[in-house]
Amino acid sequence: MKLTAENVRYRYRDDQTPALDGVDLEVESGEYFCISGPNGSGKTTLLRLAAGLLPMEGFTGELKWNGRGIEKWNRLELARHIAFVPGNLAPRFAFTVEDFILQGRFAHSSLYVRPSSSDRGIARAAMEKTGIAPIAMRAITELSAGQLQLVLIARALTQEPKVLILDEATAHLDLGFQAGIFDLLETLHAEGATLLLVSHDLNLAAEFCPQLAWIDKGRIVRHGSMTETLTTETVASIYGARNRLAVDKNPFSGKPKLFWR
Ligand code: ADP
Repeated sequence: MKLTAENVRYRYRDDQTPALDGVDLEVESGEYFCISGPNGSGKTTLLRLAAGLLPMEGFTGELKWNGRGIEKWNRLELARHIAFVPGNLAPRFAFTVEDFILQGRFAHSSLYVRPSSSDRGIARAAMEKTGIAPIAMRAITELSAGQLQLVLIARALTQEPKVLILDEATAHLDLGFQAGIFDLLETLHAEGATLLLVSHDLNLAAEFCPQLAWIDKGRIVRHGSMTETLTTETVASIYGARNRLAVDKNPFSGKPKLFWR
């Protein structure tokens, strides 16, 4: 699934300034992009708009999946191709992990009555892949932040998406869960998934994501390979030189790495 954004603008109802103010971006099928930039710069808005989760009033420009405008996809059809993993979901109902994950099958059932054995098999495979099968019967309200994030990814995988969009999937997680999630994303990428993820943890993203897009004040200001795009100059121009940040190389991996001077 290829994403094309041309001059994308989005204004929330009643907001004076647009959240997206002329976004241009191309993501080829199978690419793996990290999107980063200051708080309030429009990252979540861009992800949610691309996943078809925002109302279309307020949207102008062209946003296409495989050449077809986002406004022409219906919600269920989009959910069969694209799954969105929120970064900060606070579960309100005590579903079991397994039942919650089965909700990801909604996109594939026209009349959702009871999950079929094939639905259950797909959910089971997603739980195995994300390593959460042992907690299948736990209530989602009783999980650690790391476990919950894996459950959200597993639910997304049951949609059998071609594109996975993740909003700060590793924020607040310990090092073990961070590594586990990025390893999992690497596997999904190797299997052909298109991945778009928002992260502020550039040192972590730099180790895994081949590409980076910087968003600032509602526009993509730079994008390209991680090595060419995560540079001292870009960081200084986006966050201000007073942050005294410098980018050098990770001596172990050779990937770009941020340092405080
Ligand atoms: P980021 O993810 O980069 O922090 P967001 O996309 O969340 O940025 O927000 C971009 C802008 O849109 C901000 O000014 C924010 O206040 C505004 N915004 C985000 N969500 C809403 C909303 N539901 N209603 C009104 N304004 C919003």
